[in-house]
Amino acid sequence: MKIAVLPGDGIGTEIVAEAIKVLQSLDLRFEMETALVGGAAYDAHGHPLPEATLKLAMQSDAVLFGAVGDWKYDSLDRPLRPEQAILGLRKNMGLFANFRPAICYQELVNASSLKPELIAGLDILIIRELTGDIYFGQPRGRRVAPDGAFAGAEEAFDTMRYTRPEIERIARVAFEAARKRHKRVTSVDKANVLETFQFWKDIVTEVHKDYPDVALDHMYVDNAAMQLVKEPKRFDVVVTGNMFGDILSDEASMLTGSIGMLPSASLNASRQGLYEPSHGSAPDIAGKGIANPLATILSAAMMLRFSLDQEEAALRIEQAVKKVLAQGLRTADIYSDGTQHVSTKEMGDAVVKALAA
Ligand code: NAD
Repeated sequence: MKIAVLPGDGIGTEIVAEAIKVLQSLDLRFEMETALVGGAAYDAHGHPLPEATLKLAMQSDAVLFGAVGDWKYDSLDRPLRPEQAILGLRKNMGLFANFRPAICYQELVNASSLKPELIAGLDILIIRELTGDIYFGQPRGRRVAPDGAFAGAEEAFDTMRYTRPEIERIARVAFEAARKRHKRVTSVDKANVLETFQFWKDIVTEVHKDYPDVALDHMYVDNAAMQLVKEPKRFDVVVTGNMFGDILSDEASMLTGSIGMLPSASLNASRQGLYEPSHGSAPDIAGKGIANPLATILSAAMMLRFSLDQEEAALRIEQAVKKVLAQGLRTADIYSDGTQHVSTKEMGDAVVKALAA
């Protein structure tokens, strides 16, 4: 089991160190190799995704990723910005399925801005297609508008597109995932307006014929955005395209009120994956030892489950996280009166201790 460890920038190095500590405390053997990515790689090598880092990622079973970015890189040309490293890894590794669970832990039920009864017991899995849609469709650009009411004016345009195989494979991923959960898939589209998403809906419906044991419903994206805050527990697995998934997964992550708790996974067809917390590099708190490492630790658990076939170890980590929360340990982002304030390192140590108990 070979893991490429890419801590990145900001709090990335602090939180990944805790996840590694947790992995090393398991009775499993991993080969782990660390490399620079993002702003740290740009500073050292002039590129956010150096050749050696990409090679290491491609040759590993899984990538454990921290976060990249810092405001100081915002004036760089777009291809050199730290965030481009993630796009490069997704593209080169063919990571087309993004898994973003939104789980509300009982102990943190008051951290949400929604009423506790709406989110207690929440467990949604958002599956976002990651390599197609309007983010990558060609042509795109700026030009002089050739027609329409403003012909001759400057305009910008992007192309929304999906091919049949892209939709089929993400639909299968969603149905397979639902089989291991509550057997319900909601496919989110905008079929009432967009040809691309009528096509999406038709193909998801076709693929569903192979999964008669899973219930499927379709929902327009505007309604899905409303239902996520009105009645989030109605969802089990949500599958959608790249742009809608980008937006809805962030909305869903906020339901739980604690971005420092939410892991994510991006997988390719051979189950090689990139595992990272859902949050960014948090430059505002970097170096202070106060970041919550649990999203990254839970991402490591997803890595064990999806890419390394170690379901039992994944469950053990998830149980250990629940245990430390039940013990009342909290980093600053999830702290409330009556709980015990701990640092990034103390939280990691507590998870290791809970695993050993
Ligand atoms: P962010 O997620 O880094 O931070 C948002 C807020 O959440 C901040 O107040 C931060 O302190 C807090 N926060 C985030 N993670 C936390 C944790 N583990 N524990 C406690 N608090 C936490 O988003 P941002 O501030 O918009 O972006 C900062 C940088 O991160 C930017 O350069 C952005 O481009 C980059 N970014 C990277 C990724 C990635 O690497 N996948 C994702 C999003 C943003």
